[in-house]
Amino acid sequence: MSENKIPYKIYLEESEMPKAWYNVRADMKNKPAPLLNPGTLKPMTAQELGAVFCDELVQQELDNDTPYIPIPQEILDFYKMYRPSPLVRAYCLEEKLQTPAKIYYKFEGNNTSGSHKLNSAIAQAYYAKNQGLKGVTTETGAGQWGTALSMACAYLGLDCKVYMVKCSYEQKPFRREVMRTYGASVTPSPSMTTEIGRKILEQHPGTTGSLGCAISEAVEAATSNPGYRYVLGSVLNQVLLHQSIIGLESKAAMDKYGVVPDIIIGCAGGGSNLGGLISPFMGQMLRGERNYRFIAVEPASCPSLTRGKFVYDFCDTGMVTPLAKMYTLGSNFIPSANHAGGLRYHGMSPVLSQLYHDGYLEATSVEQTSVFAAAEQFARVEGILPAPESSHAIKVAIDEALKCKETGEEKTILFGLTGTGYFDMYAYEKFNNGEMSDYIPSDEEIMAGLRQIPHFPGNEI
Ligand SMILES: *Cc1c(COP(=O)(O)O)cnc(C)c1O
Repeated sequence: MSENKIPYKIYLEESEMPKAWYNVRADMKNKPAPLLNPGTLKPMTAQELGAVFCDELVQQELDNDTPYIPIPQEILDFYKMYRPSPLVRAYCLEEKLQTPAKIYYKFEGNNTSGSHKLNSAIAQAYYAKNQGLKGVTTETGAGQWGTALSMACAYLGLDCKVYMVKCSYEQKPFRREVMRTYGASVTPSPSMTTEIGRKILEQHPGTTGSLGCAISEAVEAATSNPGYRYVLGSVLNQVLLHQSIIGLESKAAMDKYGVVPDIIIGCAGGGSNLGGLISPFMGQMLRGERNYRFIAVEPASCPSLTRGKFVYDFCDTGMVTPLAKMYTLGSNFIPSANHAGGLRYHGMSPVLSQLYHDGYLEATSVEQTSVFAAAEQFARVEGILPAPESSHAIKVAIDEALKCKETGEEKTILFGLTGTGYFDMYAYEKFNNGEMSDYIPSDEEIMAGLRQIPHFPGNEI
């Protein structure tokens, strides 16, 4: 190892920690399209959004111009409990791969919720508390967001109602119990507790649910309970803003040692960790200061960027949310039971969608057996047991490092290791038993989803 001067783990001092989030929209020439009211097809006003979301978060959602938004002291104090997260130089993986590439990963799994989602959960819970609300409602897919939000609500003394995608509720009983331990109520979705849940169950009896269904139920629960608002763990502009802490810390840590990444890789479900990881680097690229390669990795079973369309669509299956302009597979698309539950979403962040559309970001899709193979390879040399979602990024980081081995290029690769996989052992068991299969939707299945996208002038697929 020629570069022993770079430690295995780079931590920031408390004084070096970011004090403001970075809003990449401020540097985008083509801003993400506004959310539309599906009834009028006019941009959602702050007042309309305020019925569903907390007021301060509505301001953040609509703010396309302010580059830096100060992080309130209470949130900084909470961040100190588990941040800075380590930036790790993957010396052991490099050695194993015999690659000249230099691999770094930003590890967001070192908090009890086990993922990056806590970064936005505490922010959203804080603003709800500040507004004097009683509680919040939300959906959770694999359970990471619900867990993170439960922790944040417990800390601030807010009530938390979680609608959990039914297949995860059944596959991950321990996730459910963690949420209940932190005081949340957890309902499997679709459920009979909401009007939309009953309707979905009537139309698709026996469905194992999807994030889209659970969102519909959580929104209904928020708007029908006074003193509650809905919070969302990904996709929204405000969530990418909060997750910029990942990229800001990564960049500060790399700057400290004069390291500049060539390639930045992240898994993409709704786009929040990737959006957060790349944001300060993307800002440089948008301002014309430097070039990077950014790669979004999605599951082949739910390929919104690589096979979806860039149009306005609902964010949920029940069609109760505003319309977002994003890469989408159609809000009725219910992906096959892929084990990376956090990546089973039909759409993609409007910010990332716009950046992808404008050519600033690449996207690729990978099959789950190859993802688990990469996860195990990584776990055996780097020690961390990665979440299946995170392992999508590992897979592509390894592929890029192996390309460097062929060409002899000493590229620097940074990827986001979003979380740990302790609650995913059922999936690991399937893989270890050779029982895991890959599912790639046919063109026909993709078209069936796309045909459900709302039709109006300018929104043709
Ligand atoms: C939720 C989740 C993801 C995907 O969500 P994004 O909003 O795309 O970041 C990735 N990894 C883990 C561990 C998650 O919990």
